[in-house]
Amino acid sequence: MRLVILGAPGAGKGTQAQILAADFGIPHVATGVIFRHNVDTETPLGLRAKAYMDRGELVPDEVVIGMVTERLSETDAGRGFILDGFPRTVPQAEALEIFLQERDTPLDVVVRLEVPEEELLARLEARRELEHRTDDDSEVIRKRLVEYRSKTAPLVTFYSERGLLRDVQAVGTVEDVTARTKQLLADLDPV
Ligand code: AMP
Repeated sequence: MRLVILGAPGAGKGTQAQILAADFGIPHVATGVIFRHNVDTETPLGLRAKAYMDRGELVPDEVVIGMVTERLSETDAGRGFILDGFPRTVPQAEALEIFLQERDTPLDVVVRLEVPEEELLARLEARRELEHRTDDDSEVIRKRLVEYRSKTAPLVTFYSERGLLRDVQAVGTVEDVTARTKQLLADLDPV
């Protein structure tokens, strides 16, 4: 299963991706997690990404694309993967499409987690209390939502046009959302 999980910051992508990846026995590739790890260990990649992340802006496409294609070239991703937080721009989606086409391993599905805006803000505020992420302060949260709307939301059209997009209402408990997502994946046409 090769899956992209799409949704605004706070939609629950990380939580759901982690559960599904464990269930399917495939890697969970989360660009935000990889970036935060690189920031914490002060690698050159981390140092480059940190300023953007702290401002709530997207890291430049070429940096992210290189990092993801390297990760997807590792052996474990040959069985499939769940991408969480990537792609976030149309150029990233195009680069991913070409990378996968060259390997004859196209995406199976793109799952969009849909959450109303006021619920997103409430979740992000709650996460700020819990995780103390430097990019979860109110101004940066606002900026991340703006970035999402302007740069990531166009992926909905990109993937709809390719017949890959499926929506999941991502409200209710974590278990509810997982169950809805699994049902949707079970109903997919065999590929
Ligand atoms: P996340 O944990 O997915 O919300 O990502 C945290 C931050 O990492 C984002 O606000 C961006 O600064 C950066 N980031 C993660 N994934 C990407 C991506 N695909 N493109 C650009 N920046 C990204």
